Amino acid sequence: MTCGGFRYSVAIMSDWTFGAVKARNMAVEAYCQNAACRRFYVFDLDYLIAEMGADYLVSDIPQMDCQACGSPMEIKLAFVTPEPEQSAPDEEA
Ligand SMILES: [Zn+2]
Repeated sequence: MTCGGFRYSVAIMSDWTFGAVKARNMAVEAYCQNAACRRFYVFDLDYLIAEMGADYLVSDIPQMDCQACGSPMEIKLAFVTPEPEQSAPDEEA
């Protein structure tokens, strides 16, 4: 069993909205800036869209503090590639 997809993080582009992030199958994540902690959190994008709206700017997310150590967190976008086993839909009409 393989687990998860390959992921990497990018800085937030200032005009990106939650809807744009979701449309690209990306994720919004927050990284603790404390090198001794390095926790990271993944936001529930569907929840954010439901709460804030799909046109809410990612760069407008307020500054967060790490729940573990209280250090400021950096919010980033992450690309998450789909599972390689996923093939194109082959439906019969
Ligand atoms: Zn922390």
